[in-house]
Amino acid sequence: MSPANAPLLDDYAAVAPAGAIRLVRHLARGLSGRSFLHVNSTRRGGGVAEILNRLLPLLDELEIRTRWEVITGPPEFYDATKRIHNTLQGADLPFPRAMQETWREASAATLRHMDLGADLVMIHDPQPLPLIDGRREGSRWIWRCHIDLSQPQRETWSALEPFVRRYDGAVFHLADFARRLPLPAYLIHPSIDPLSDKNRELPRAEVERRVTALGVPLDRPVLLQVSRFDPFKDPVGVIRAFRLVRQVTDAVLVLAGGSADDDPEGAEMLARVKEAANGDPDIHVLLLPPDAHLDINALQRAATVVIQKSTREGFGLTVAEAMWKGKPVVGGAVGGITAQLRDGVTGHLVHTVEGCAHALRRLLADRGSRERMGALAREHARRHLLITRHLADYLHMLRLQTASS
Ligand code: UDP
Repeated sequence: MSPANAPLLDDYAAVAPAGAIRLVRHLARGLSGRSFLHVNSTRRGGGVAEILNRLLPLLDELEIRTRWEVITGPPEFYDATKRIHNTLQGADLPFPRAMQETWREASAATLRHMDLGADLVMIHDPQPLPLIDGRREGSRWIWRCHIDLSQPQRETWSALEPFVRRYDGAVFHLADFARRLPLPAYLIHPSIDPLSDKNRELPRAEVERRVTALGVPLDRPVLLQVSRFDPFKDPVGVIRAFRLVRQVTDAVLVLAGGSADDDPEGAEMLARVKEAANGDPDIHVLLLPPDAHLDINALQRAATVVIQKSTREGFGLTVAEAMWKGKPVVGGAVGGITAQLRDGVTGHLVHTVEGCAHALRRLLADRGSRERMGALAREHARRHLLITRHLADYLHMLRLQTASS
């Protein structure tokens, strides 16, 4: 949805927790006219861009002068930033001097034309981190880190740390992802937009039409995992768990993910998934285009139980999406999944294929507990995982950082 037809704050009153919109307006009082600049490295694709697209119009509506700038660079810049991303998350690869220079040079070049004047500047992820060199007097700078920094490769972290130390604060998704730093650290979970095509209410008839058009039958329970075809999402483990489930209960499994044409690792994983599925007509491997938001919405609503059996995870927004749709979730006990799911309350946290199968069997056998858990999941998502909470967190940050300016 373009900002021109983006929802207004009051549109969220029907879905957000009671008082949430009043709180947002209260927090925005006194901030009118303040300027808030976000800088990241892409306007499309990925969770950071998706949420900025939704949050910025709401900040504007609150009369906060919000801008979003994007750092760009030559192809070598993207190679360097990919290397930073992978090595910060534990890949055992070097971050050679030439790459470090390419990374810093993109910021130096950007500083020649980008207007960085704002009361609060939020720099997203490591790509634009060295822009702090262009900080103006009186403005506050926050680094919003969206990745797991708990065990970075040393060489990469040594290149980044001197820049990070010059910021006024760092924001992490999860406490487990943070590092000890000589600056205030804040914890802000990501969020989902309940009014986006991915998450808005859909009439039952539309859900059925879309899911049937994807070839998924609705005459049996549907188990669903939506994820990129990536080893850490463990789609092959999901298939093994499904086989154990089917020894006792009839069901179909849907593994929905993006087409992997331009991603060699994804294509390899997809081939392994297809091999594991071995032509089983009850295992539906769906390759969806990047804008299949309504189809994903429909699949999540049609699912009996949603699975996110990751063995390593950032935040895991698919869990929030499923919870918001009132589904119990069986999720791997890793990363942000543990921050979202309450084991035995809104779903089950699992460690193994057998544990996953056991949790699925229990849920499939007990409609009452599915409904109870689903209702609690939706309430948890309503309170903690919606964009309105995210907006309030950003307003708190603006107040805190710009109180004295
Ligand atoms: N998603 C999608 N199409 C796909 C697979 C995933 O649109 O084929 C969406 C999914 O609904 C979620 C996001 O991509 O909104 C994935 O976010 P998550 O945090 O779960 O995992 P990531 O891919 O960032 O590791």
